[in-house]
Amino acid sequence: MGSHSRARGGPRLAAAFLPYDLSNFQSEYACDNSSVRIVRPRTLSDVQAAVRAHSHVKALGGGWSWNQPFFCASNGSMPPMPDGFTRPSSRGSPPPGGPANIVMQTLRPLMIAVNETEESVTVDAGVRTIDMLRYLAAYVTPSAPSGWTLPAFPWFVYQTLGGAVATGTHGSSLKHHSLSSQVLAFTVVLANGTVRTFTNETDPFLMRALRVHVGKLGVVTYIKFRIVREMPVKRTLNSLPSSRFLALLRSAQQQWIANGTLPGWMDETQWFWVPQRHEFLMVSFTRGDDPDASKRLAVLSEYARAPRAASTVYNTSMELLQEVVKGGGSFKITEYYGQANSSDPLIGSSRTGVFAIANNATREALAAYPWQPEALLNTNIRRINYDQYEVAVPVSTMADCWQGLLELLYGADNLDGTSYNGTASPASLPAKLAVAARANGSMLIGADGRPDYGFRTNPLIRSTGREDALLSLTHDMPHLWLNIEDYIYYNRPTRQTNPVFKSLVGFLRSDARCGSTGLEGRGARLHWGKAGWPDSGCWHGDKEFPDTWCDFGCAVRELDPSGKFADSAPDRWNWEGAPLERCCVPGRGFKVAAEDPACVCTVRHARDAASCPEAPYYTYR
Ligand SMILES: Cc1cc2nc3c(=O)[nH]c(=O)nc-3n(C[C@H](O)[C@H](O)[C@H](O)COP(=O)(O)OP(=O)(O)OC[C@H]3O[C@@H](n4cnc5c(N)ncnc54)[C@H](O)[C@@H]3O)c2cc1C
Repeated sequence: MGSHSRARGGPRLAAAFLPYDLSNFQSEYACDNSSVRIVRPRTLSDVQAAVRAHSHVKALGGGWSWNQPFFCASNGSMPPMPDGFTRPSSRGSPPPGGPANIVMQTLRPLMIAVNETEESVTVDAGVRTIDMLRYLAAYVTPSAPSGWTLPAFPWFVYQTLGGAVATGTHGSSLKHHSLSSQVLAFTVVLANGTVRTFTNETDPFLMRALRVHVGKLGVVTYIKFRIVREMPVKRTLNSLPSSRFLALLRSAQQQWIANGTLPGWMDETQWFWVPQRHEFLMVSFTRGDDPDASKRLAVLSEYARAPRAASTVYNTSMELLQEVVKGGGSFKITEYYGQANSSDPLIGSSRTGVFAIANNATREALAAYPWQPEALLNTNIRRINYDQYEVAVPVSTMADCWQGLLELLYGADNLDGTSYNGTASPASLPAKLAVAARANGSMLIGADGRPDYGFRTNPLIRSTGREDALLSLTHDMPHLWLNIEDYIYYNRPTRQTNPVFKSLVGFLRSDARCGSTGLEGRGARLHWGKAGWPDSGCWHGDKEFPDTWCDFGCAVRELDPSGKFADSAPDRWNWEGAPLERCCVPGRGFKVAAEDPACVCTVRHARDAASCPEAPYYTYR
């Protein structure tokens, strides 16, 4: 687990991670292993026994997340360690009966059952997303000659389905939303060890709580998803400069404000932002099940003509890059990611990858929508440490937010990168931060004048529609997501903040154009499974989810009154001072103030904006 020394000694494949130990997929964000047990159940009754036998439990899936407080059943007496580096404890093994993490891999006998009449699949929560998608694609019958698929799925498909749903994992779909909205039924081991199945028909309110539950309501063992027949999908890639991207967002924002609708192009579109080039790659999709018959016909006839071969250029380009990097000899690959002059080649390589996996084509859905190539799991993802952050911006202000973000990063006079002959505007973040960064050993502007905009991979932009899960980031309206990765923090000789990146996160989390919730009533919400969470006491649920936080509190009271499913984030799961006892109606949630004026969801917190670090409210990166 000695990740500090790993950065110096070159990249090793992470060897210890869930399910072998309690750390994430990169051996980071580890739990205190002297205070928490790890349970690996084989059967449903093993899960029930584990829930009964331990003081409190937290289910886990594949460890594909960046959030230790939501991950560890306990951090013992140690303070939370959100910096991701926990030394292995020498205090011996945890006593029996105390806290435990239950790792939900597949149970015996394996459950994966398609019901063609109902158009559903019931599956073990421990099955990986990709394995179910492949199973469905191969489930060919007279009624589904190309098999089945999920209506929409995420870019990353190696997490467990239980984990994916718990955190509201999503791809890009206004119509089909996140995976959480595609669930028809949950089977859950409850706090008392009994098993219960929930559906919209039996438990409409608790289903809204379960759809995004972050492990707080039980151990999910089986999930029933809605499925659709596999179909051809046409994919189209276009390159746009920043100004064109902003103009498109502006017209969509105006349409939303005018009549509450969004333009057709927004549904399913995914954008790859190429920061070093001021460029946006727009990847759009037309489905073979589009309600418009002429669109269907166009997709189907193109599919009939399309070549079948799949491209491997993306993997090849990454391998080539690694060869180049290794050949240099004077530095290690991980440190290369931290160097200023690596931004142009790495962003360029990442861009080549986008063209390879998302170029124009008409394929079946599982091959048309881009997803993380599996080969990269061991060559890159488990080898080169990074943190992934994702925020959701409401569509009502998305163009304003992006205008502010791009002006902050590039300077308002250089949005398209054409004003300074490839060098930075004096108003850009790298120019403004350059002097302070140099004192810290970082070069934000190269000798040739090229700026380093803080990224090593191309951010991904997606949208999802409004959904009814209480803790969905889009429970109030459709949102545009921005997924960004920080490779610089880990991959310098010592761990060090990526100043450009942190300024951007600060803007996203606190500017009124990016959202109207948050610690100071401004800024975008954070994905439940990713990085960027504030210091302890500086994330306030009642401010992030003003309409639904106390409803979720009511669901916790209903399903877990004694705190069996506690994690190590008690400061986040806080309803202190909110009148839950008075205002919670079983099966319905928190009363509205019109029914009882005392029913206002205001929570007491130990810290407020004045005593927290400034936005983005964390000190550990
Ligand atoms: C490289 C990478 C790319 C990603 N890309 C995307 C993406 O494209 N879109 C997106 O939205 N997200 C993405 N994510 C986030 C990821 O989908 C979530 O973090 C997901 O929750 C991870 O699932 P897991 O099985 O690894 O669960 P874990 O990380 O092990 O657990 C995550 C949470 O789920 C709870 N949980 C897990 N299983 C159960 C269960 N059976 N019952 C009850 N609670 C449970 C845990 O308590 C924990 O709070 C990505 C993550 C990584 C590492």
